[in-house]
Amino acid sequence: MASLTKKELKKKYQEYKEQGLALDMTRGKPGAEQLDLSLPMLDLVTSKDYKTVAGADTRNYGGLDGIPEMKAIFKDFLEVSSTDEIIVGGNSSLTLMHDTISHAITHGFPESKKPWGQQSKVKFLCPSPGYDRHFSICEHFGIEMITVPMTEKGPDMDVVEKLVAEDKSIKGIWVVPKYSNPTGFTCSKKTVKRLATMETAAKDFRIMWDNAYTVHHLSKDQDELANIFDACKEAGTENRVLIYGSFSKISFAGAGVAAMGASLENVNWMKGHLSMSTIGPDKLNQLRHTRFFKDFKGVEKHMKKHAKIIAPKFEAVIEILEKELGGKDIATWTQPKGGYFISLDVPKGCAKEVVKLAAEAGVKLTAAGATFPYKNDPKDENIRIAPTLPSMGEIKLAMRVLCVCVQLAAAK
Ligand code: PLP
Repeated sequence: MASLTKKELKKKYQEYKEQGLALDMTRGKPGAEQLDLSLPMLDLVTSKDYKTVAGADTRNYGGLDGIPEMKAIFKDFLEVSSTDEIIVGGNSSLTLMHDTISHAITHGFPESKKPWGQQSKVKFLCPSPGYDRHFSICEHFGIEMITVPMTEKGPDMDVVEKLVAEDKSIKGIWVVPKYSNPTGFTCSKKTVKRLATMETAAKDFRIMWDNAYTVHHLSKDQDELANIFDACKEAGTENRVLIYGSFSKISFAGAGVAAMGASLENVNWMKGHLSMSTIGPDKLNQLRHTRFFKDFKGVEKHMKKHAKIIAPKFEAVIEILEKELGGKDIATWTQPKGGYFISLDVPKGCAKEVVKLAAEAGVKLTAAGATFPYKNDPKDENIRIAPTLPSMGEIKLAMRVLCVCVQLAAAK
């Protein structure tokens, strides 16, 4: 589309402003139509039928690491080799990640000389743009964050390898390995291998492998992710990786089931801590999930229904970006094959201004900077777009407003 003059852009912006819009593109939540897909699950555990396949009573305490059929699904989901390498948690993988870090701070991992909290400094590598809540966990526990560039192949491994080899206070790295939040990038086979085999100065180094979007493809054209657990086992570093996932964006975002996959030593370490805080998870919900999905193939089949609903929303975002900003040399954006986000880079120093302009015109976006440690995007250029929750009409309108804001900010 031909470039509008600044005057024309201002006029357009004013027209949007006068419409009194109230559109929200902030968080990656599933839409109601997606949540409806799992409603039949609610009728699968009844007052007459609440026992597991093996006959355990899911109403009672017990089963700290999950019911066997749920562990079996997560074994395939998180790609570990045995159900013994799985701990099923509550509804949130973020809770499991938070608790892992919390236990490391108070007690350390099996290889730690001292709890992390008693060491003078603990640092984490944060590939960015990345997931804001990973960074909040670090901030919460006083872990110093080091920003590492995120590339189309995953974290910039030249930077990662150098840092972890020379600094023993670097204790870990956050990785969303597939359809990453917010870029949609997937780690290449080489990146996975390098993460598994790199020399780390810290003997208790951990990769927080948050595989939140492993089955969240938008079409048949899908990214492949190499199995990091196998790569670590082969390299003799199997304690290095902790794998997380959940049903939050598969069944119900507020009532899914989460799990961690890890080496037996890590699993036992985690179970020891978990047993201090719970006598067992919500097994009724696990039963609902296993009866509904049956096995991992059932999960994959179900995700095709999600894709049908959300792929057109992603397509609409890309189409409008291309139409309104394409060829103008002021913005670049990712075109993910899965996940929940599109990452938009606007001219340096403009992201905050774009988000502010959009908010003033009634379009709420994730705060600029949120995708970086300490909420500080050094180039002030990244904006996360979350297209799943709003309706198609809302997305199209919000994107048109956003594109005017980008052009206005760039013109300044
Ligand atoms: N990990 C990533 C990368 C996410 O984007 C999200 C939610 O947006 C979560 C974890 C949250 O997962 P859960 O609902 O299982 O806590």
